[in-house]
Amino acid sequence: GVLGSGDFARSLAVRLVRSGFRVVVGSRNPKRKASLFPAAAEVTFQAEAAKKADVIFVAVFREHYSTLCDLADVLVGKILVDVSNNTEINHHKESNAEYLASLFPACTVVKAFNVISAWTLQSGARDGNKQVLICSNNQEAKRTIAEIAQVMGFIPVDMGCMSSACEIENIPLRLLPAWKIPIFLALGLFLCFFTYNLIRQVIHPYIREQKNKLYKIPIEVVNTTLPCVSYVMLSLVYLPGVLAACSQLYYGTKYRRFPDWLDQWLQHRKQIGLLSFFCAALHAVYSLCLPMRRSHRYLLIETAVKQAMEKKMTIWVEEEVWRMEIYISVGIIALGLLSLLAITSLPSIANSLNWREFSFIQ
Ligand code: NAP
Repeated sequence: GVLGSGDFARSLAVRLVRSGFRVVVGSRNPKRKASLFPAAAEVTFQAEAAKKADVIFVAVFREHYSTLCDLADVLVGKILVDVSNNTEINHHKESNAEYLASLFPACTVVKAFNVISAWTLQSGARDGNKQVLICSNNQEAKRTIAEIAQVMGFIPVDMGCMSSACEIENIPLRLLPAWKIPIFLALGLFLCFFTYNLIRQVIHPYIREQKNKLYKIPIEVVNTTLPCVSYVMLSLVYLPGVLAACSQLYYGTKYRRFPDWLDQWLQHRKQIGLLSFFCAALHAVYSLCLPMRRSHRYLLIETAVKQAMEKKMTIWVEEEVWRMEIYISVGIIALGLLSLLAITSLPSIANSLNWREFSFIQ
């Protein structure tokens, strides 16, 4: 059974029908909503649907749970699946699922499916997040919902008892929590190096020789800043490991907890490394684009004209040529190696390597 006829209810009904379940939908206005559901699903009034089904998905917002209280008698002994999400982290004191359980004490409430979007339900489990996090105080009910999720093509993940509902409801609202510190770190470093390069490449020539080099800001200054950030970030990936080893040697044990700052730092190494790779990749693109700039063409023509006026036949400087060839080839190899590090740190690749292979590559 599905209570509600909104986006989520429709997608859920479609997937349940495709997975071979008999579905009855409860709506306040079944006549108007029936055409939105697959023909195999029965669309009827809420009370009728609640009577017919043993497992009922409550695809209604928390704010409207109290309007379902009239159904309390027909819902006695049934499993209610709370699929709801909030608009803010820890918005209410108690989780939506606990609130639903308090409204319907004669029902068994299971929290599930809230991390799956209506779109994922529609397009099938192959296209999107596959895990369905489930929690409930009733093991039997949890098993029933896990089986349904499995038949629908999802991977049920047991998150324990109802007290985990709040944590599960916060998951769709999280905004890359592990990336916050590394991103601020990268931005801070970028700002420092950018200011330094701006002074060196734009402000200093202006003060000393009155030369206007403002045109360098969008590409050249950014391009000299990116590798600096990338190198420092890369060293910050390996530095905490060295500090941790030093601390273990100093205390003569590996069973002593690291200080919190070092622990946090160690946990953010992957994100710091990926941002280092991102800066290096951007640097490569910027560098490839350098000759495309109009300023570059003007300077090139200017040099050619000067050379013609001075009647110079060649400006080939062997040492400069070699320096640039080696510089670029080492840069390409460095980017290749950094790509390898970045790729092997992705969970799907890292999980296919054993610990020895992973640490060998790192
Ligand atoms: P929706 O499109 O606004 O649908 C909500 C449905 O609630 C309405 O169609 C309505 O159906 C029903 N309803 C029952 N009593 C109501 C009342 N008193 N006032 C207003 N509506 C009432 O919302 P939705 O996107 O399907 O979301 C439904 C639930 O699923 C929410 O708790 C949401 O957090 C959760 N969810 C949604 C998604 C998603 O991708 N959309 C993903 C995860 C979880 P009738 O008019 O037929 O009664």
